[in-house]
Amino acid sequence: MATTCAVCGELGDREYGAQKGGWPEESTFIPGAIDRLIEVQDLGSDGSRLHKLLRCPSCGDHFRYDTDYEFIVPGTEDSQVLSRLDEQQTAALQAGDGG
Ligand SMILES: [Zn+2]
Repeated sequence: MATTCAVCGELGDREYGAQKGGWPEESTFIPGAIDRLIEVQDLGSDGSRLHKLLRCPSCGDHFRYDTDYEFIVPGTEDSQVLSRLDEQQTAALQAGDGG
């Protein structure tokens, strides 16, 4: 689904980031546009993982943001997933029964 939104247009339906401790050249990041999204709901966390519902202040599209963290000898790995949601997925999350 293509969007021409000035705020979130550079974000695809799904974006991934991963950073390995000690291997900066292999790190990838979610595009900087994520910083312009607004957090509308904290979906809770379990351990080191965070789950948030974000919204684009310009077009109103909703996104789910999930982070993960793994401790892998001899380093660590952080990963993030940003998914663009449709209205149904957003409603499910806000109702609290989204996976
Ligand atoms: Zn937008």
